[in-house]
Amino acid sequence: MSIQPYQVTAINAFNDNYIWLISHANNNYCVVVDPGDSAPVIEFIKQHELELEAILITHHHNDHVGGVADLLDYAGKNVPVYGPIKEANDVVTHAVCAGDTIQLQAFSTPLNVLEVPGHTLGHIAFQSEFSVFCGDTLFSAGCGRMFEGTPTMFQQSLADLAALPAQTKVYCAHEYTLANLAFAKAVSPNCDVLAARLSEAQALRQQGLPTIPTTIEIERATNPFLRLGDAQIQAAIANNSQAEITDDLIDNFAALRRWKDDF
Ligand SMILES: [Zn+2]
Repeated sequence: MSIQPYQVTAINAFNDNYIWLISHANNNYCVVVDPGDSAPVIEFIKQHELELEAILITHHHNDHVGGVADLLDYAGKNVPVYGPIKEANDVVTHAVCAGDTIQLQAFSTPLNVLEVPGHTLGHIAFQSEFSVFCGDTLFSAGCGRMFEGTPTMFQQSLADLAALPAQTKVYCAHEYTLANLAFAKAVSPNCDVLAARLSEAQALRQQGLPTIPTTIEIERATNPFLRLGDAQIQAAIANNSQAEITDDLIDNFAALRRWKDDF
């Protein structure tokens, strides 16, 4: 595997959002993903003398797009805003869909567009050989709320993300890891890997550090929403919803998502 040519910096916004800023050692371009707020991004760009090359948008929620207008006022209206063809039409200038490839100098490696509906209907992710920026679809140890999609859609989107190469770094848009791990532990009380992950995440948060990125490999091992084929998880879901055990992935996803909503 080659070496990742770009750096990714977490810019904190609101209570628990991360705006990801991608920059490159060999040029002064940067790209931001889901700038819900502009002020912390502009401050970072000024401080590091960067030039905003593009904005990437995963979905239309305001905590992901709210800073776009002010960022363009600052950086210039000609900065392209890549976003889902099915939503966020008020801010997106370059609508993209599954199969599209984006070339940006800050990344210097191609970015593939994946369609991952479920949290919203048009939700997309941006994926390179090294990382995936997946907004509110896949979280560390969890997944987004199902606001617009169906269980069929959402389960497929998560399965598509889980099928990415194991070492892919996962950059989701919120710091929800501790709460998600608490839920994962309720689903799988005897999972040792999960217990180790929880103490690691607690140590990071105590130092004020992000628990993100995670990796596809870690998520496959510990994220209950990616482990719906596991017999123990199926039994836990059935027990919680007082239903018969089923191996149907979509039914299990729907029941697990409901369980988490009320957790
Ligand atoms: Zn959202």
